[in-house]
Amino acid sequence: MKTISLTLSSAILSLTLVSSVLAADYDLVINGGRVMDPETNYDAVANVGIKDGKIAKITSKQIKGKAAIDAKGLVVAPGFIDGHQHCIEPYQYRLMLRDGRTTLLDTEIGAHGPKLDEWYKRREGNAPVNFGVAVAHEFARAEVLDGFTDWKYFYSPDAGQSRLTKEGWSKTRPTLEQGNQILSLIDQGLQQGGLGIGSTVGYMRAGVSAREIFELQKLGGQYGRFISMHFRNTPGDDTGEVNGIQEMLANAAALGTPAIASHFNNPGYNMVHELLVRMRERGYNVWGEIYPYAAGSTALNAVFLEPEVWVQALGNKYEDTLQDVATGEFYTQKSREEMLKKEPTRLVIVYKIPDSAIVDWIKMPGVAIGSDGMPMVPDDNLTWDTPYEDLPNTHPRTSGSFATVLRLARENNIPLMQAVSMTSYNYAKPLGDMGLKSMQVRGRMQEGMVADITIFDPETVRDNSTYAKGTLPSSGILHVLVNGTLVMKDQEPLKGVNPGQPIRFEPVKSKFEPLTIEGWNKAFYASPVDFGGGVPGYDIH
Ligand SMILES: [Zn+2]
Repeated sequence: MKTISLTLSSAILSLTLVSSVLAADYDLVINGGRVMDPETNYDAVANVGIKDGKIAKITSKQIKGKAAIDAKGLVVAPGFIDGHQHCIEPYQYRLMLRDGRTTLLDTEIGAHGPKLDEWYKRREGNAPVNFGVAVAHEFARAEVLDGFTDWKYFYSPDAGQSRLTKEGWSKTRPTLEQGNQILSLIDQGLQQGGLGIGSTVGYMRAGVSAREIFELQKLGGQYGRFISMHFRNTPGDDTGEVNGIQEMLANAAALGTPAIASHFNNPGYNMVHELLVRMRERGYNVWGEIYPYAAGSTALNAVFLEPEVWVQALGNKYEDTLQDVATGEFYTQKSREEMLKKEPTRLVIVYKIPDSAIVDWIKMPGVAIGSDGMPMVPDDNLTWDTPYEDLPNTHPRTSGSFATVLRLARENNIPLMQAVSMTSYNYAKPLGDMGLKSMQVRGRMQEGMVADITIFDPETVRDNSTYAKGTLPSSGILHVLVNGTLVMKDQEPLKGVNPGQPIRFEPVKSKFEPLTIEGWNKAFYASPVDFGGGVPGYDIH
């Protein structure tokens, strides 16, 4: 016995020696930072060794690498995951890095099903951050019901065109045949590895029946993937909003499928949050996201801004709530009518809830951040090098959402771990649980995980973008790593360094079976019907 135990101790001793020699081999070490992992609640000053794109070591011991970052006084957190970003383009990447974001996902509008593969190919090898996209319900409807095929971007920014041209995508109920065509286009994107289905049904109103939404969720469920909904009645009041999400959650419960409540930072949010928490407790993979701003952004002609809805039903005044993005001036009913004649899709900021609600949202456990970042218009001449101040104005959430969460947590004594969880883990966890492998190894500071890392100063991190100047970058976020490669150093994004990886599923065979008339609600689908209530606006609220 004694001999054996001696042999074991010397074996352990020699292993220790070997590992300390190997330690000099890390590609990069991050020294002396406060390492925070939202999954295990690990929160300690430690050194992090990066090798082959992974977090190879987290230790209090000294380690050596080919390069080193001094993180003393800084937080070393999982790279921020923006689950709701409508602009994944080179001119946007510097702003994203300055705000600490290492993964950008367009889960709400998404890409046109047949173009999904092309969407990914365009970004492979060309992006400093990871990128992913859902399959668009809206664009399948635009192709089938409006004949729209003029795809320029294959995703969100195309809504600027498709929503201007015609209204069938919004207000027409499809026939059985058209319904099957819509589902088939979406199915192509799911086959190509789309993350889930994005639906902007809140912009469609009566054009989409309860049956259509149910069938969408059923189709996504065939693949085990989410639906993300800008749910009905958003923005609305505290009952309409809640009813909107209850539609999606009832389907999710009946079908056992994942679902995302897109930007539920609206009246009724506390009820929506409670629904999500209780369903998660019962094992349903449903979750919600917010952006930390009291105002949204949309087009002047959005249907919910009509006086009957915005003023009479919801009790708002244009003078207090409707601001022009470009001039900063507030509209009156008269000036709104005049502008509608000249420029119906002019971008506006819409104040919809008191500022005090924002801190409430950041206190809500389990909630994720989706910035709802907007395409900049016009974008023809914008590049990586376009100076921040020369970018066209946009909602400040585009550039400041993540730093805002960290600043508000500091100012309101919200635990930093809660904020770190919101900015990373709370999107990675449910997506990973859905079987998305690339998200099972992100959003965590643990050995073996992918080295997407955001390093920030907890005392100074802050947003700088405002409603008047929405393109000013955040500050206090110093270094960013994506897949183990440094993409921002000392607050300077590094041009031409593109380690970003696609976030998607492997291609699979079709699981779609065309519906028969029995599968549809015959009364609604027998013939195309124009139910009115279309929303020809360019917003992506
Ligand atoms: Zn939306």
